[in-house]
Amino acid sequence: MTVIKSCLFSLSQNTNMNKFATKVGPKMGIKSFIAGTTIDELERNIVRLNKQNISVTVDNLGEFVYSESEANIATNHIITIIDRLNGQNLDGHISLKLTQIGLDISMEICRQNLIRILSKANDAHIFINIDMEDYNHIQSSWQIINDCKQVFNNFGTVIQASLHRAKKDRNENKNLRLRIVKGAYKESENVAYQTSKEIDDNFLELCKVHLQEGKFTSIATHDYELITELIKYIERNKISKEKFEFQMLYGFRTNLQQLLSQQGYRVCVYMPYGQDWYGYFMRRLAERPQNINLIIKQSISKLLLKGRI
Ligand SMILES: Cc1cc2nc3c(=O)[nH]c(=O)nc-3n(C[C@H](O)[C@H](O)[C@H](O)COP(=O)(O)OP(=O)(O)OC[C@H]3O[C@@H](n4cnc5c(N)ncnc54)[C@H](O)[C@@H]3O)c2cc1C
Repeated sequence: MTVIKSCLFSLSQNTNMNKFATKVGPKMGIKSFIAGTTIDELERNIVRLNKQNISVTVDNLGEFVYSESEANIATNHIITIIDRLNGQNLDGHISLKLTQIGLDISMEICRQNLIRILSKANDAHIFINIDMEDYNHIQSSWQIINDCKQVFNNFGTVIQASLHRAKKDRNENKNLRLRIVKGAYKESENVAYQTSKEIDDNFLELCKVHLQEGKFTSIATHDYELITELIKYIERNKISKEKFEFQMLYGFRTNLQQLLSQQGYRVCVYMPYGQDWYGYFMRRLAERPQNINLIIKQSISKLLLKGRI
């Protein structure tokens, strides 16, 4: 299983595979995990979830950005989504990756694009979450976040429980709204825990501390055992339901999302959207290769519906 995971993870970082897959993907049943390839499709899915009392965080997909013009296009696209959320009064915010708006080109281009997005979002009263990427980008991401903290308060970020530095980063950023995750990237033992037990323990501790003394906590996991343990903790400590939410990925454990929402918890679904879905999709397969079964089943039923099988 570890070999399959590593193999899928390496594929997620392959730009040629990315180009190829974006052409054939829509025929493969990826739409169960991608909330739309057009903004109208995205809006329909947001409205559907909002009707179930579920809010959303929209991720405009795209990771292999190496030119200033590509970074500007991505920035403009994110601003279009902010306008749509605001204009249609949708219950949602934005998740973005700094590499998409220029981090691999220059810190300055990235910072300027982020400032443009945060200013626009501020006027529209839309929250922005800065996703955390692989370890190579961590230091520069925190630097940009720290700069923006001086000026804006309409954004938050992510703490990856797999990293040794997670507790320190949380402590230094308790005034930010934080999403706690296990961590999607395969990192070396010099910087990250390697066993699920260590990562789960750290995840629980980070969530508990941030729930007690932090601004707002987004508990982002599909792990039922961790969710159950945290609900017990929340009830024991009488933590208000206004102080946290559960976040899950679009198309994953939808029954659990609905159940938590029906029980009166805030639930927010991470909605990946756009043509450039490959890196995101392959990381989900690397985390849980069983998801391949889901795709195969969905593709077969799609073909059956079209009468091709
Ligand atoms: C909203 C959100 C935002 C994220 N943002 C980031 C980010 O910015 N940076 C980052 O590095 N990572 C991010 N991640 C990814 C995260 O770090 C993990 O890689 C990912 O969530 C998988 O870990 P898990 O906690 O869901 O549990 P896993 O360890 O993958 O799974 C734990 C258990 O959950 C159950 N389970 C999981 N998936 C399913 C399923 N589809 N169906 C049924 N049971 C299932 C199984 O019982 C499994 O054993 C994000 C995740 C979420 C949910």
